[in-house]
Amino acid sequence: MTVSRIGILGAGTMGRGIAQVAALGGYETRLYDAFPAAAEEAATKLREALAKGAARGRWSEAEGDEASNRIGPALAIGELAGCELLIEAAPEDVELKRRLFADAAAVCGPETILASNTSSLRIADIAAGVPGPERVVGMHFFNPPVLMKLVEVVAAERSSARALATATKVAVGMGRTPIQARDTPGFVANRLARPFSLESLRMLGDGVADAATIDRVVRLGGGFRMGPFELIDLIGLDVNLTIARSFFAQGGGPERWRPSPIQERLVAEGKLGRKSGQGYYPYAEGSGREPDPELGIAAPTLDPEQLTRIDPAAGEILPRLFAQIANEAALALEEEIASPADMETATRLGLNWPIGPLGITELIGASQAVGLLERLQREKGAAYAPAPLLISNISSSG
Ligand code: NAD
Repeated sequence: MTVSRIGILGAGTMGRGIAQVAALGGYETRLYDAFPAAAEEAATKLREALAKGAARGRWSEAEGDEASNRIGPALAIGELAGCELLIEAAPEDVELKRRLFADAAAVCGPETILASNTSSLRIADIAAGVPGPERVVGMHFFNPPVLMKLVEVVAAERSSARALATATKVAVGMGRTPIQARDTPGFVANRLARPFSLESLRMLGDGVADAATIDRVVRLGGGFRMGPFELIDLIGLDVNLTIARSFFAQGGGPERWRPSPIQERLVAEGKLGRKSGQGYYPYAEGSGREPDPELGIAAPTLDPEQLTRIDPAAGEILPRLFAQIANEAALALEEEIASPADMETATRLGLNWPIGPLGITELIGASQAVGLLERLQREKGAAYAPAPLLISNISSSG
């Protein structure tokens, strides 16, 4: 199906960014919000952003002007008539999303494809209340959509091949890189990233090192742009904890996904990260302490000599983190949440990882990862139970 006109439902952080890449991709774009003034303001801000991008050389002036002309607010839901694709970026509430899709679908007709940008809800649950659930798919963009190239195209049980093909084609038209994902908790990139924060928090709890040391080792030895605690401070401890709770609940309470008691306590104390002035680091003026600005420019390494030069604890920190990343990837492969190649693409383009989880598995080696996980499982319990696929990797690699 050919799409020429896209309606965006919800003109907040994500809706605006998605509208921008849609208009730059050549699609007529209509921004709808529960508050008409928000849709109007978003359209105005987007035109400004497109002019600014042209001034900075990100696209030509003509491209910026043309994209601006393609963007307009939809001040009432009826103004979405004629859209062949609707992308929903409204608050994370399944009832609200169902109602919104049903209302918009009534205006647009039975052929219109309905895509949700939800991060944590099941696409099948959103589709359940909508007339023509086979046209509902996920199109999961990453923040900010203008900079992040990944779109996870999520197939719910009933999603039609036509709807999935259309969403994939439009993602490419928007200059993004689509991957194919199944409708499993958190989809692909965010799920593969679970150990990045959770294992780091467990190491903090175990007293392996303090937050600043773990961050530094992950940047300098792991090649990541930000350490886990800097990243959680930026995202917000409360936001990160909500994500953790959602994974834990949707996954049926697996130990490895149990939310961190340290984080629970900090959130209860109102220490929410940058936005509250205190998280794992203090940010208040005059605190004199900012995260270590040294950038993670090194390629990931597990060379003991190099690691010891970074910090004496590095030789414990990185193998533990990498073993858990390898384990999550093996479990994800067993569940077939995405192809191996798409898993690598998801983490590199959605999370800016230097290498994907299967690259990390190769770096640590299945045998070292399983050995370490088995020891930690004996000492600390089920959060470290090695995945059968990781174990069988050892025998298959001799
Ligand atoms: P946001 O709060 O910035 O924006 C939501 C917008 O929806 C607001 O402008 C609000 O006025 C509008 N809205 C509220 N009720 C509405 C309704 N009934 N109809 C139409 N519009 C309505 O939220 P956001 O951060 O842009 O997140 C939107 C969605 O994107 C969520 O499902 C979230 O899980 C997902 N998401 C967010 C991120 C992120 O990093 N922020 C990343 C990926 C996906």
